[in-house]
Amino acid sequence: RTAVVLLTRDLRVHDHPALASACSAFDRVVPLYVLDPALQRLSPNRTRFLHQSLADLREALRRRGGDLVVRRGDPVAETVRLARAVGAEGIGLSADVSRYARRRERRLREECERHRMFLRLFPGLTIVGPGDLRPAGGDHYRVFSPYFRAWQGTKPRDELAAPERVRLPGGVDPGRLPDPPGGESPDAAAGGETAARRRLTEWLPALGRYDDIHDDMAGDDTSRLSPYLRFGCLSPLAVANRAGDRSGPFVRQLCWRDFYHQVTAAFPDLSSRAYRRGAQEDWRYDQPALDAWTEGRTGMPIVDAGMRQLRAEGWMHNRARLITAGYLTRHLRLDWRSGVAVFFRWLLDGDLADNSGNWQWVAGTGNDARPHRGFNPVRQAERYDPDGTYVRRYVPELASIEGKAVHQPWRLPVPVREALDYPQPLEVPGADPVWLR
Ligand code: FAD
Repeated sequence: RTAVVLLTRDLRVHDHPALASACSAFDRVVPLYVLDPALQRLSPNRTRFLHQSLADLREALRRRGGDLVVRRGDPVAETVRLARAVGAEGIGLSADVSRYARRRERRLREECERHRMFLRLFPGLTIVGPGDLRPAGGDHYRVFSPYFRAWQGTKPRDELAAPERVRLPGGVDPGRLPDPPGGESPDAAAGGETAARRRLTEWLPALGRYDDIHDDMAGDDTSRLSPYLRFGCLSPLAVANRAGDRSGPFVRQLCWRDFYHQVTAAFPDLSSRAYRRGAQEDWRYDQPALDAWTEGRTGMPIVDAGMRQLRAEGWMHNRARLITAGYLTRHLRLDWRSGVAVFFRWLLDGDLADNSGNWQWVAGTGNDARPHRGFNPVRQAERYDPDGTYVRRYVPELASIEGKAVHQPWRLPVPVREALDYPQPLEVPGADPVWLR
């Protein structure tokens, strides 16, 4: 008896419900990944991370006597073709929430019915399944706090061990895994379950201090597990279990991830349409300002530092994401969708649910009922990067400016300022920002 497990963004062997189930119920299992050209174009950084993760997964499966079978093309056509060629009874798959993923599931189901195979969906993408919690009178939670309360009361499924053996049917060509393509960010983290598990173990000693350190931009001591969670190199449940306390501040962040996935499941247009009906959307069009923001040359040091971290590492500190997104939407008054697109191109953890959900939250178009809050990037900078270390790390033009003066180069004595190769703050027609007065 044979089954195919179609892998998507669950690139691990530990705590993998679809893989574990197939390995216990079937004699032969084909773990399959289909490189989909439609997705590869989106982000060179993530494509590289993906390839590294696939290479690592292939090693892990080979150590267990199996292999990762790789194909290229339309995931549905390739999966069904292979399943039929090996005489599989059916296909297992981790359920996902995006429009793209659900269309893939739907098409797979139709094909499986046509060829008398089963299609079984498994949990694993999130800790609590996207449709598992429903408020009275609604199909999903719109506001985080009540979701978090309900979420804490759930009983998680059991965490699963990695299968000891994976037996591939004879005669299957595993297919070549192309060398990882070049990414765009020179300092990007490397993908793979091995790197992910190492990172988790190395970071865990900082967990007890998380509440104090997670907003310290220069300290840079958050887990940096997001790209691994994005590609499923780690199971979020396994991370939460290692962290322990379900009401603690770190696990609460993992719950935000679950939250936005359940929002996306109910509102798949999250990346393109305001979630809140009637949200005010009077965005300006200003390509030069958007370019300056994207390239980290707005003349606002904390914003430029964040955007340059993004380009250098394919990752940005959460506080910097909030500040750069706030600057784009509330100060430049540019459309949050252009911010979504820029982040999505560069972020290793770029994810439709988390990226769009957070952007909408900052832009005030999201589920959060609060209207636009005041926004002052200099105050944010002085609070979360008090001596300017974060800015100097990413904006070398300002490396000679000591202390918090680095946050307001326009206030430096004229000869000092003119000696810097750094732009004046971008001007926005009609705006008179308090921090420039
Ligand atoms: P930690 O602080 O160590 O948190 C642990 C994990 O919790 C993270 O790895 C992540 O999976 C989850 N998490 C933390 N904060 C959030 C949050 N606000 N929303 C959802 N999940 C969260 N995160 C992404 O994974 N992908 C994105 O595309 C993304 N885009 C963002 C865009 C904007 C404008 C903002 C403000 C935030 C965005 N985030 C996104 C959320 C957050 O910034 C990152 O998850 C976090 O910075 C990753 O670093 P870390 O792993 O060290 O996080």
